Amino acid sequence: MTSAADPGAERTPRTTARGRGAIALGIIVLAVLTLWRVVLPARDGGPHDFTGATMGTTYTVRIDAPLTAGERATLADTIQARLAEVDALMSTWDTASQLSRFNRHGSSEPFPVSPLMIEVMRIALDVGRQSGGAFDVTVAPLVDAWGFGPAGEPQNLPDERMLADLRARTGQDLVRIDSAHQALVKIDARTVLDLSAVAKGYGADRVADALAASGLRSYLVEVGGELRVGGPKLDGTPWRIGVEQPDPGARRVHRTIDLVDAAVATSGDYRNFFERDGRRWAHIIDPRTGRPVPYAGASVTVLHDRAAVADAWATALTVLGPLQGLDVAERANLAVVFITRTDSGFVVSGSTRFGQRFDRAAPDTSQR
Ligand code: AMP
Ligand code: MG
Repeated sequence: MTSAADPGAERTPRTTARGRGAIALGIIVLAVLTLWRVVLPARDGGPHDFTGATMGTTYTVRIDAPLTAGERATLADTIQARLAEVDALMSTWDTASQLSRFNRHGSSEPFPVSPLMIEVMRIALDVGRQSGGAFDVTVAPLVDAWGFGPAGEPQNLPDERMLADLRARTGQDLVRIDSAHQALVKIDARTVLDLSAVAKGYGADRVADALAASGLRSYLVEVGGELRVGGPKLDGTPWRIGVEQPDPGARRVHRTIDLVDAAVATSGDYRNFFERDGRRWAHIIDPRTGRPVPYAGASVTVLHDRAAVADAWATALTVLGPLQGLDVAERANLAVVFITRTDSGFVVSGSTRFGQRFDRAAPDTSQR
């Protein structure tokens, strides 16, 4: 902006000398910056999202950090590889998976497995024990009989006799970890396993651990609805997670939970259910009856350090329901919250640990 009265006109010689200095400095700065860009590629401030398909569902990973295009590509490969590894081990849908091969192994000879399988089985058997058998990895024949397995819906649903037969083939004492041989052992050679209720969470843990090992601090990993977050976000605020209302008709957030370095899993009868004989049933089996859990419009959200543990517990607590489930959660000192649909709105009941750690805000009742 110049004007006729610009006093700068009288100082032309001095300005020119200073100007030359400034131009020289500018050139040096530009040269350094150009060199810098060549040596160190540009970083995009983020957050960076990675999405894809895995384990018959989808995943989303958000990394809150500046990344170069090269780093982004490497991380995309790492995420994909970690999930593919879990899928190749634990899928019941892939006939070549390690789990499918173990399931076809019709013998009580130890079957050597990956250390990851041993780790997941330890979590599964531990939750199975603590939940009094509500969580049961040997539930596979019942899952198939009710039509939730790879074979799809059967011609006839199981009758009492068939249920009694199938139940005799289930129970987690029919399988054992042989640590010395890093193997799984069938006590009953017919035993078959289903890890679907824990594998998604385990996949989220594997990705989170890989991201942490790459030096990243702020990330969110979601696999089929099971979540694990690393740190707070880059700006220091916690990750804010929406917990869905157990409403089959609408996907609405019932409340939010702020998380730092934690995992959260939700299970419920409201999202994945089927209708038969005028009734709704969840895709989760109650191992005590051999039947699917009847629909009650309930969800349970479990918070834990590890997503695999949260995932397994969310399934177990869906079997147990809000009353018994809350008792068991208290005994196991778990942070859980049940949301149950009633005629007068949604009833929220959280465990003591949930209240202490996560329930700083009052329950959100605005959407009742
Ligand atoms: P989730 O979505 O994590 O609750 O897992 C549900 C899946 O776990 C089902 O589709 C079955 O394959 C399997 N499953 C069903 N009932 C049980 C149970 N009681 N214990 C362990 N796994 C189960
Ligand atoms: Mg689960």
